Amino acid sequence: MQEPLYGTPHAHSSLLGPLSPPLIRSTTAGQPDAETLRAMGAGERPGEFYQRLGHTNGRAWESLVAGWEGADGAVAFSSGMAAISAALAAHLRTGDRVLLAEEIYGGTSGFALTDLVRFGVTVDRFSALDVEGLVRALARPAKFVVFESPINPTLRLADIGAIARIARAAGAITLFDGTFAPPPVQRALALGVDLVAHSATKFFGGHSDVLAGVIAGSHALLGPIEGWRRRTGAILAPDPAWLLLRSWPTLPLRLAAQQAAAHALAMGLLEDVGAGRLVAVSYPTLPNHPDLALAKVQMHGGGCVVAVELPGGLPGAKRVFDRLQRIARAPSLGGVESLATLPAYTTHAALTTEQRRRAGIPDGLLRIAVGLEGADVLLADVRQALAGA
Ligand code: PLP
Repeated sequence: MQEPLYGTPHAHSSLLGPLSPPLIRSTTAGQPDAETLRAMGAGERPGEFYQRLGHTNGRAWESLVAGWEGADGAVAFSSGMAAISAALAAHLRTGDRVLLAEEIYGGTSGFALTDLVRFGVTVDRFSALDVEGLVRALARPAKFVVFESPINPTLRLADIGAIARIARAAGAITLFDGTFAPPPVQRALALGVDLVAHSATKFFGGHSDVLAGVIAGSHALLGPIEGWRRRTGAILAPDPAWLLLRSWPTLPLRLAAQQAAAHALAMGLLEDVGAGRLVAVSYPTLPNHPDLALAKVQMHGGGCVVAVELPGGLPGAKRVFDRLQRIARAPSLGGVESLATLPAYTTHAALTTEQRRRAGIPDGLLRIAVGLEGADVLLADVRQALAGA
């Protein structure tokens, strides 16, 4: 096989010379001769040639992701949605069927239900919490099974290994959105999925200053995805790729600290539930979490997001939300700052109260994406907001 245009795993760069890599912004690069120009233009050789086909900073980051995921390679995109839409569009044809989890990021369902269906792809839904239901749904062939875990914003867990096995037995490709829990918290490829997608805007960036996405998997599946990226121009640019390289060495440290703080915050909030100040708290490693056994099998920790049900429905939740002082009222997750959102007003605003309730998302739900302030600071912030509401 010729060397792919995307990054493949390689050892960490040498400690000789500049420790921070150079940023190469040039959109084009001079070649030594006609044959090199031909080979690079034909995509037969990676290297600096024309930026839309690939570039040094992007490939360096892709190589790190590929190694981290234990994948053949990784293909980087300008956003998480560019990555997820590319993975699907590159492999689907008119007449194909996609099984899309009901519990999936709204951008993914928006793309599938607006765009894939326009091109004659059938999109059917299944619950990622109902493995038997997936077996029934796969009685009819599907090209893709698309799901995520932990599920946003309930923090219930899908059985990744079981879904991957069932899909593979039925000949479907699994596309797993790993944004909420990158390795080492969760290794989706090792659990059996075919392709893992990340919004690198979240933990890989980690500082709320990069929009990026990536798909990791086998060469056989990545080849068409890289071709789609080249033809559509959805590639990650060198500047954000450089910022992702900058963020790379601290990824495990940030994940570990944020995850430990999330667990401690959730444990603290459980006391507030016991005292009747909160309705409920959900976090995968809490002793009362319905999927705790699964968390122990497929995760190393519970991730960095905590869901809290506040008293008084949406009006009560808004009062507490508006009083937060250390946790920013902002969408997203995975950054060093803690962020709070009300899913009833943001990710799940399109659903009615009753539809949300059936999806396990009460209107009083507050989602906290834990950063690096420390659990005590965050607990004190939630408690002062509750006390004054
Ligand atoms: N997947 C999940 C789980 C997300 O939370 C997001 C963004 O919030 C995305 C995908 C899309 O990523 P991006 O905003 O980088 O396109």
